[in-house]
Amino acid sequence: MLLNFLSSWKLYLFPSLFLCWCSSSTAAIRKKHNIRCSFTESELLLSPALMAGLSFEATYTDSHDVLKIFAAEGVEFLLSCEGKVPVSKCNGKIICLLFSAIWCRPCRAFIPCLAELYETLKKRGSNLEIIFISFDRDEDGFREHFKSMPWLAVPFDVNLHRRLIDRYRVDRIPSFIPLCSDGITVEEDLIGCIEDYGADAFPFTRKRQEELKAIDKRRRVEASLEELLAHEGRNFLISGDDRKVPVSELAGKTIGLYFCAYWSPPCCAFTVQLTDAYNNLKAAKGDCFEIVLISTDRDLEEFNVNKSTMPWLAVPYEDRTRHDLRRIFNIKGIPALVFIGPDGKVISENGKFTISSYGAEAFPFTESRVRDLEAALRKEGEALPQQVEDVKHEHVLKLDMAKAYVCDSCKNQGKFWTFSCDVCDYDLHPSCLEKVNKD
Ligand SMILES: [Zn+2]
Ligand SMILES: [Zn+2]
Repeated sequence: MLLNFLSSWKLYLFPSLFLCWCSSSTAAIRKKHNIRCSFTESELLLSPALMAGLSFEATYTDSHDVLKIFAAEGVEFLLSCEGKVPVSKCNGKIICLLFSAIWCRPCRAFIPCLAELYETLKKRGSNLEIIFISFDRDEDGFREHFKSMPWLAVPFDVNLHRRLIDRYRVDRIPSFIPLCSDGITVEEDLIGCIEDYGADAFPFTRKRQEELKAIDKRRRVEASLEELLAHEGRNFLISGDDRKVPVSELAGKTIGLYFCAYWSPPCCAFTVQLTDAYNNLKAAKGDCFEIVLISTDRDLEEFNVNKSTMPWLAVPYEDRTRHDLRRIFNIKGIPALVFIGPDGKVISENGKFTISSYGAEAFPFTESRVRDLEAALRKEGEALPQQVEDVKHEHVLKLDMAKAYVCDSCKNQGKFWTFSCDVCDYDLHPSCLEKVNKD
């Protein structure tokens, strides 16, 4: 029924009606899942160009020569923010096509990231040109969308855009397509790669992506603190009270990279434990240890509040380093704590467990130190009876292990070994035990 309707002659005359229909239905899908827009097979099959029986494969033998395609399509000029630009302006440039629409939220989120990359690459003198091909519903939408773009655009023409969309097999937006033989495809997540690496992702080839991954891998294992925490434009960290502290002052210390956000209750809870360990360590060992906050706060204001509650240093908020460190250490959840030794090598990526289990005692947070602590704990447990009777409690108490408890005798906190009651919620420090005298 729907197919019959859509293949009627009206759609040949009014393909823009189709595009509207297609757009609004995908907008609904996107809204629901809040993901990059992707078009269903049926939507593609119903595209006016295919229905009109056009075969672009036959017309364009050289799939990468977009200028030939434009010429064959009768595109006489492109648009820039200043007006018409001859197509020949793209001669000799590395061209990338951008398919995007203003009604698409992921597109609107991606454009500022791409614009920043574009400006950076222009400053570096690169030969890049981006050409925007619109998925917008009408010319007003196109104009509004193009206002946010510093590059070129194919003038608004629904029929032409639809043919280019088919030609480049675009099935989702935003789609960013570098016209080179080794280019990363949309399916291989070029957009994610650009979000991850910014201008460093240029020229958007698989080879470049492999290089970047190899650099990350090396940094994860053996980067200098300067390489991890500073860059050409910044060689300092900031303290809770906004002092600038040179990264070089951290040389030779054990460093904890603390990935955390103020909006996260588990982060706030762990910050309390970490602060405790930090203060104990500073008191016991002096200045051989430092923590650096890598914030995932939602905005600067939140970051400032977060930072002001902490006694250690932070990577400035308006800084790509925060993003790079999350990627390099593959941080998927917060809070997370990565320890780096005085030699710059990663000691442990599971610092959260180490601190929440052993606190400052675990210093210098090496695997061997944690193993020693575990062995000592085991030995302590082996010396204790499996079950006891205490004069203060009517039930038999069994030896148990708890991360944290409050002793019901002395009312102080305890961790690890406890004598606890199966019947009621009763815990006892092994040191607070007063055995029942059976004689
Ligand atoms: Zn006690
Ligand atoms: Zn009991």
